[in-house]
Amino acid sequence: MGALDAYRELKGRLDGTVYLDEPMNRHTTYHLGGPVALYVECASVHDLGVCFEVLSAEQLPWAIVGKGSNLLVSDAGWRGAVLTLTGQFKEIVAPPLPGEQADEQAGWSADEARGRHSIVAGAGVILNTLVQTAFKHGYSGFEFAVGIPGTLGGALAMNAGTASEGIGTIVSKLTVYRPGVGLLRIPQSELHWSYRASGIAPGDIIVESELKTVPGHTVQIRAKMEASLNRRKATQPLTKPSAGSVFRNPPDASVGKMIEDLGLKGYRRGGAEVSPVHANFIVNNGSATAGDVLAIIMEVCRRVKDEYGTELQTEIRFIGFE
Ligand SMILES: Cc1cc2nc3c(=O)[nH]c(=O)nc-3n(C[C@H](O)[C@H](O)[C@H](O)COP(=O)(O)OP(=O)(O)OC[C@H]3O[C@@H](n4cnc5c(N)ncnc54)[C@H](O)[C@@H]3O)c2cc1C
Repeated sequence: MGALDAYRELKGRLDGTVYLDEPMNRHTTYHLGGPVALYVECASVHDLGVCFEVLSAEQLPWAIVGKGSNLLVSDAGWRGAVLTLTGQFKEIVAPPLPGEQADEQAGWSADEARGRHSIVAGAGVILNTLVQTAFKHGYSGFEFAVGIPGTLGGALAMNAGTASEGIGTIVSKLTVYRPGVGLLRIPQSELHWSYRASGIAPGDIIVESELKTVPGHTVQIRAKMEASLNRRKATQPLTKPSAGSVFRNPPDASVGKMIEDLGLKGYRRGGAEVSPVHANFIVNNGSATAGDVLAIIMEVCRRVKDEYGTELQTEIRFIGFE
């Protein structure tokens, strides 16, 4: 009865929307995943409070997701609640740049002006919307993130980025919602960013971030963004559903190269395949199940362990496989 009772209770009390038995193939870039007991679109901090009050009373497990672009959800789904952020968490405050003259008048050198301009964005903002907003305002520093799918919250949780840049480097503050506690502001000095990890405490939900910007020139920003997008188009299988890179690179090694050298490009299970374009992507050819993707993950892990002695770790996150 837990999920049904929680659904009834939440339905009348949220600013956002709650769905019962919601199929997750609608909410993942893999287009895979069975139903979760509850799918809750939280539109405000009030909603998060109500949600955790009800979920804890009904003893339901929960997970926070963005756009599901780094997720594999089991075909059987999950008897828990998946929370996502909408409404007030989709706001961006990006003041227009006052311009170099104003910086000079304020007595700031170009170096001092860095970091004094910032964008504040909710964690439900689509990352690419943020990149475009920065570009329109003449803010530099976000170009590396162009083309990374998902939300700002997901990007921050994953410290998303490229081989050389991660979003963590441009954060000045994070605001998280800690169930049972409420909102906490965490300055950059207390955050421990690492390869595809933010270091936030388990169970914290990122709700907002202040991001440092550097005044830039639109022509140069556009050129960097185009170069980034072209690199993606040339190296990633963007025409087929995937969740991006499946495995983390082991220290000083490229997992894509390791998998390719094992001859596993094009390796298939059911409707899933190791992409012939990029060996660290497993794509859905249209008829894949989450079970097919998982079978490939396990086979790749086995072959890499046998051949190189390396235990691979996944970059993608899992729901419903316990
Ligand atoms: C075609 C393609 C290309 C990609 N290229 C890249 C790339 O170049 N670089 C890169 O780093 N990634 C890449 N990815 C992976 C993915 O897009 C990123 O990890 C993205 O930042 C995930 O965002 P999301 O909103 O979809 O998060 P989800 O996939 O929904 O969630 C990912 C993780 O973040 C957590 N999370 C989400 N929101 C919050 C929140 N508000 N608070 C706390 N935790 C939260 C979830 O619990 C989960 O553990 C790619 C994916 C695809 C499909």
